[in-house]
Order: sequence, then structure tokens, then C-alpha cells
Amino acid sequence: MKYKITVLKGDGIGPEVVDQAIAVLNAVGEKNGFGFDYHEELMGGCAIDACGEPLPQATLQMAKSSDAVLLGAVGGPKWEGLPGGKTPESGLLGIRAGLELYANLRPAVIYQALRDASPLKSEIIGDNIDILVFRELTGGIYFGERGRTGAGTAGEAAYDTERYSVGEVERIARLAFEAAGRRSGLVTSVDKANVLESSKLWREVVIKVSKEYPDIRLNHMYVDNAAMQLIRNPRQFDIIVTSNLFGDILSDEASMITGSIGMLPSASLGSGTLGLYEPIHGSAPDIAGQDKANPIATILSTAMMLRYSLGQAASAELIENAVKRVLEKGFRTGDIVSAGGQAVGTREMGRLIVEEVKNS
Ligand code: NAD
Repeated sequence: MKYKITVLKGDGIGPEVVDQAIAVLNAVGEKNGFGFDYHEELMGGCAIDACGEPLPQATLQMAKSSDAVLLGAVGGPKWEGLPGGKTPESGLLGIRAGLELYANLRPAVIYQALRDASPLKSEIIGDNIDILVFRELTGGIYFGERGRTGAGTAGEAAYDTERYSVGEVERIARLAFEAAGRRSGLVTSVDKANVLESSKLWREVVIKVSKEYPDIRLNHMYVDNAAMQLIRNPRQFDIIVTSNLFGDILSDEASMITGSIGMLPSASLGSGTLGLYEPIHGSAPDIAGQDKANPIATILSTAMMLRYSLGQAASAELIENAVKRVLEKGFRTGDIVSAGGQAVGTREMGRLIVEEVKNS
């Protein structure tokens, strides 16, 4: 069995971290009896340089016909100042829209070996923190009507519109409830239903969908309280499901309590099994090409790919456990070495994780 994977290495540290993630994927495939056909395509700054646009049609077509897409990162100083639709980052928005990926999943997990890297006190972290944020990705205020009135007058004003349809809320709520069945069975829906009409609809629809999942517990929380509770008592959360705007803010907050941007994977999913998997960090031009980048976020993104797109949950766990063991043995890239341990480069960290996969 072979899975077709579109590989978008992108810019900056993208190629370095993706190379290590592919080495880990290959090791897992060899061990568990499946393989991969990788199709490397251009997106971001490298695509602008090669063909004048951040998301060439060939890239989107290849992605559409794949089982999953693996992305490094895009952007960098070379392409700053380009007009809106021509930036490397607009390629990212374009591929998410083109593949109809409406849910962004971001786990925030604290690894025992890296507890000291978290800005939270040990008694707040407790045994563990393991939160999965489901952010709606293609609706809400980022896509609603916007504009200005009275330009150039004393009364000049600007507006953005938060709009959600029943169908848009239903589909992300369903994804969250399905995932909760595979975890601890608790969904917290975050809204601002005491003020916003769009949030009132959000809450009504989430409650309606929850009736299809009688074994899952559902909590509702206002976004201002959720921002506070993530710091005060993050262990009360398992799955958080929320709108595009609230999810943008809360998923950054949740990820920062884990300590390092170099550790955090993400998945973007739609209605089928096709998904886009990428680290949450950017192209880190300050350390690109120096063998300093932490490849773990991208390696953990491949674990999400195995779990959500390829139906290989056991192989996903194999990768996650290999990462844990390498950290427990004390190996660290520069971004997490403040938590103590032995400093290694990008390639060595990848090699150590491949070895753990092979030996497990
Ligand atoms: P960044 O995430 O690239 O870097 C922020 C800081 O974190 C830097 O000091 C960097 O060295 C460090 N860092 C990031 N990833 C790391 C890793 N894996 N290992 C070790 N250290 C790491 O954010 P930025 O500097 O704001 O953005 C740089 C470029 O990336 C910009 O062009 C931005 O638009 C782009 N960007 C792309 C994406 C994406 O492709 N999804 C996301 C965010 C930013």
C-alpha cells in the first residue's frame, strides 16, 4: 500500500524540517508495511521566484489528487512588501480554500521532559496538559463583508461582519464531537453568546449537533472566560471548538503555554480525509540553512497526518512516543535547550527520532 503525499517544502527552514519529517515517515512506513509516493511542488516564496505566483495551478491540482499534503513554511524578507494576493502567505490561504479545509486542529501538549519550558507554574500544569483546539477556518469575520464609510470625513468609520451559517457550524461541531469520542469525551464550545447574534446561533447549532453524540459531555464558555481559564486551570479542557476569530487567538494562547513554537504541529481538515499538515511556526529566516531549526513540530504534523488522513493511528502513536523518548533522553534543539539537556542540530534530532522509531 502506498499513500500519495504532496510535499510543499516552502521557504526558510521549511525544506530542512520537511526532510526530517519525511525520514521519520519512511521509517514508520517500513516498520508497519506501507509506503509513500512523494510529489514535491512549489508554494510560497519559492513559487513566486520560479513562476511568478505563490500558488501555481499545478500545485493545487497535485494537492487535490493526494491523500494528504505536508507543508514546511512559507515567507521571508525577500518577498515582503508584495501586494496582498501575491504574498507567499496568500498561497497558504489559497490552498486551504482550494482544498475546502474548514477546520484547523492544533494540539497543545506539554511534554514531561519540557515542563520547565512552560511559562505556567508546575502546580497548574499538574500531571499533564493535552488540549486540542478546533478552529473554524473558512468563515466568520475574516471572510464577512467589510468596508469603510465616509472616507476622508470626520465621521469616517470601518466595519467587519461576523457571519456564520447553520451548515458551517454543524460541520465543525461534528468534527469536534467525533474527535472527542477518541479522546476523553469532553467538548468545550467557546462563543460570546451573551452579546453576539452569530454566537447565539453558534451555541444553538452546537447544542443541536451534540444530541447526535449522547456519550460526549458539552460545556459552553464565553471567550473572555476561556482566555482566563486557559491560564488559570488548563487541565479542565480537552477539546475546544470555536469560531475563526476566537480560535485564532485561543489557539495561539494554548500553544504558548507549552513553551516552544518549534514543538507544535497542526492539521487543516475538510469533509473528506484529505488534509494539510504543517508546523505552526513560520519560515524562521533568522536560523534558516544553519541546521538549527527544531524539526519536531513538522514530525508531529506527520503523526497527525497518519491519524486523520491515512487512518494509521498506531503509526501516529509510534511517532509521538519516539519524540517523547528522545526528549526524555535529554536531546534538545536550540529553541528548547533552556529546559536543560544536550544540544543537537536539525538533522541529528531527525536521526535520533528515526532511530527510536526503528527500535520501538
Ligand atoms: P517564525 O515562526 O518564522 O519565527 C519566530 C521565532 O521562532 C524566530 O526567532 C525563529 O527563529 C523561531 N522559530 C520558529 N520556528 C522554529 C523552529 N522550528 N525551531 C527553532 N526556532 C524556531 O515567525 P516570524 O519570524 O514572525 O515569521 C517569519 C516568516 O514566516 C514571515 O515571512 C512570516 O510571514 C512567515 N510565516 C509563515 C507561516 C506559515 O508558513 N504557516 C506562519 C507564520 C509566519
